[in-house]
Amino acid sequence: MSKKGFTTTNLHSDRLDKPEHGVLHKAIHTSVAYSYDDARELAEVFQGKRAGYNYGRQLNPTVTALQNRITAMEEGIATAAFATGMAAISSSMLALLRAGDHIVASAFLFGNTNSFFGTLQTLGIEVSFVDATAVSNVEAAIKENTRLVFVETIANPVTQIADLAGIGAVCKQRDLVYCVDNTMTSPHLFLPKAVGASLVVNSLTKYIGGHGNALGGTITDTGLFDWSRFPNIYDSYKGQDVSLWGITQIKKKGLRDMGGSLGPEAAHHLAVGSETLPLRMDRACANAIAVARLCDAHPAVNKVNYPGLEQHPQHTRARDLFCNFGSIMSIDLVPGVDCFDVLNAMQTVVSSSNLGDTRTLAIPVAHTIFYEMGAERRASMGISDSMIRFSIGIEEEADLLADFTHALDAALAGK
Ligand SMILES: *Cc1c(COP(=O)(O)O)cnc(C)c1O
Repeated sequence: MSKKGFTTTNLHSDRLDKPEHGVLHKAIHTSVAYSYDDARELAEVFQGKRAGYNYGRQLNPTVTALQNRITAMEEGIATAAFATGMAAISSSMLALLRAGDHIVASAFLFGNTNSFFGTLQTLGIEVSFVDATAVSNVEAAIKENTRLVFVETIANPVTQIADLAGIGAVCKQRDLVYCVDNTMTSPHLFLPKAVGASLVVNSLTKYIGGHGNALGGTITDTGLFDWSRFPNIYDSYKGQDVSLWGITQIKKKGLRDMGGSLGPEAAHHLAVGSETLPLRMDRACANAIAVARLCDAHPAVNKVNYPGLEQHPQHTRARDLFCNFGSIMSIDLVPGVDCFDVLNAMQTVVSSSNLGDTRTLAIPVAHTIFYEMGAERRASMGISDSMIRFSIGIEEEADLLADFTHALDAALAGK
């Protein structure tokens, strides 16, 4: 049988598990604990000799169904789900790394990931932040104790695109775990496995859930990394199948011990949201290029950062790697035009910190999500005081263009 498409596979994935009563949605299982007729079975589940559930912090049937969907979307071999994207990142890094290790990370990371990597530094894990748009910077930072390279697909808010393929080749050659945060592109636009990623992070809160009504995060093992070459795997997690050593350690040391588990209700919301991911994302991308072109031509706008515009420094890379250019963009305003005036003049676009929602959301970056970082670091990241980041939604294009035109015109007139 030929391989089915992304949406077909996703829509019908829960039924592969022969769900109770033939339900089409995996049920929301709220039970925390599980029992067995024969207590030996419970013991075997604990010992990993039999598949099954014992305690909700580690595994829940509704969450398992969602994990299977993400594994299929990323064409991976296994996924661990967490309460948030940050729980997925922090628990996985703490599960895999030890004091004395070194990692290389993009200098343009999501703010909270950047902050967490600062915490890793206080725990004795060295972090080199490099401009990952050039693979040479990543290569130059690699040391003898380097264990892992961490990058994102499209950086927030300036939309730089890492040399994803080049870094993949270097990680393969040097036996390094290659961890790619695919949140901004989602598995609909890009499969990090195609460029050699070992682990793929998704904040399900964003495009995959897609409706701003549930938090969640996952890490997926693509099966490409040879975990027998990773020095930090505990002996008890070295099962027969070497490809599962890494995700087993993430599930035990990360999910079980740190306890950032995804709840079944959130898992249900995220699974239902994921069913329309390609439809939403295609529409949001189409809206985004139209909005980017409008902003690019508007006299109130100094600069537009959007990978779909031909002048974007990594436009060709984005075109070659991704199916579309995403729906995140940021703009800088001309001197004298105030970002708060633009935001407050908008009637359809909502001022809000989330992204990947169905609604178009906007945020004044320097005053909010990158405030804690300080002016100097913001300047080094190309973040001006007037920058606004937009997460373009799925409204009718004409309504968005009208709102942008009105707000930019009004802010320019009030200058
Ligand atoms: C939002 C986000 C995260 C964190 O996800 P949460 O679900 O909010 O914890 C991680 N990486 C990127 C790129 C994000 O945009």
